[in-house]
Amino acid sequence: MSQITIHDLHDKLTAKEISAVELTKQMIAHRDAAEGEIHAYLSVSDEAALARAAAVDARIAAGEAISDMAGIPGAVKDNICIKGETCTAASRMLEHWVAPYNATVIEKLEAEDYISLGKTNLDEFAMGSSTENSYFGPSRNPWDTECVPGGSSGGSAAAVAANEAVWALGSDTGGSIRQPASFCGLVGLKPTYGLVSRYGLLAFASSLDQIGPIVKDVTDAAIVLNAIAGHDPRDSTSIPMEKKDYKKALKTDVKGLRIGVPDEFFGPGIKEETKAAIQSALKFYEGEGAEIVPVSIPHIKSGVSVYYIIAPAEASSNLARYDGVGFGFRMPGEDIVDMYIKTRSAGFGKEVKRRIMLGNYVLSAGYYDAYYLKALKVRKLLKEDFDQAFAKCDVIAAPSASGAAFKFGAFSDPLSLYMEDICTVPVNLVGAPSISIPVGFHDGMPLGMQLIGPTLGEERILNAAYAFEQAHPEYTKTAPKGDM
Ligand code: GLN
Repeated sequence: MSQITIHDLHDKLTAKEISAVELTKQMIAHRDAAEGEIHAYLSVSDEAALARAAAVDARIAAGEAISDMAGIPGAVKDNICIKGETCTAASRMLEHWVAPYNATVIEKLEAEDYISLGKTNLDEFAMGSSTENSYFGPSRNPWDTECVPGGSSGGSAAAVAANEAVWALGSDTGGSIRQPASFCGLVGLKPTYGLVSRYGLLAFASSLDQIGPIVKDVTDAAIVLNAIAGHDPRDSTSIPMEKKDYKKALKTDVKGLRIGVPDEFFGPGIKEETKAAIQSALKFYEGEGAEIVPVSIPHIKSGVSVYYIIAPAEASSNLARYDGVGFGFRMPGEDIVDMYIKTRSAGFGKEVKRRIMLGNYVLSAGYYDAYYLKALKVRKLLKEDFDQAFAKCDVIAAPSASGAAFKFGAFSDPLSLYMEDICTVPVNLVGAPSISIPVGFHDGMPLGMQLIGPTLGEERILNAAYAFEQAHPEYTKTAPKGDM
């Protein structure tokens, strides 16, 4: 097996060419062989996986129909709660914390007879772009183990690219699904804010967080989205809407599609090879009868600044609960205040502490208006820019990252790494859906392109992504470490 996808394996399972138990055992063996080098997982759940696989085989043997995802082993980012399993957020603070309930996405996946091989690595509390901020050490990129897999959902992307999981869930607050998907040659989909429930996702920045799939191809993205999308009364920001079948959007026809190209996404910080790859993708679309429309999103220039005010502000409030009392790590102290200080000093890593300090600063009396309130105003201007752009086009094309995956330690100062988020954070700030797809290679490393849609425009971006992917099978390759 090489390029293994949910849809191919589903066909094999239903044709009885392979059983779910055989498949799961094979994936576990491959995962265990690869993990020494890749370190995509923080914990595994093989017993539960094999029990679920046996149940799926029994249903197939009984002639029952199975869902698209049934019996196909995947993995879940370790900031999403699975009842009875540890949920660490890659933090010392939650090293031994066992989730007492299931996230809504997990409940939904259970209804599809999903199989999870374990929980995947991330930057601590999803803050970062490389997994270098994980308390448990970084994951490695299956295309080149000297490079980062991206982040924060780097473990999820590394697992899928190395064929240690067929699919994985990630979370995206400022790019954490799309950037690792792009670094690992995969497809990553950040749904519209509110399309997928956040219940049971450990909160980083609640007005930005969304759960979504990291997978091999666009068809698999639609399959996982079908399983996890839907209204949830337990998440007050969940959009009440009818369920859709996103597989219906998988069409190669893009005739008449208006693709917006904002100059601001192609500035000097973006590498030439990335620009060239996207230019050639745009030529392809033109050849297929799509229309390329210049649009402008002037406030992109403020995107990183606004994000690094709003996200830390929300994080500082969300992370206040980790105080050594309710749950998680506790360092004893002389009195309760001393205990809080010791617990939070030892329990959080450097980047998390930096964000808490930033967040508390921008929310504090005297600075609130100057930073937080101002950031909210610019966020609104950014939303207006996107609305105006979408009056002229159906989807927007942009890079997923400035270039291909970088080497470990390449960014020693936090600010230059923050700047790297320029392509992805504006999309979270406006709540739009966006898919990252492989668009080429540079020096053997994958490059990614985003297709951004208007609110609830998932079908449009899936259609545009599918059309490109079907015409460019050469970009959907297996990473060298993925051979099995
Ligand atoms: N790199 C961004 C950050 O560090 C995005 C993280 C994310 O989407 N979780 O905040």
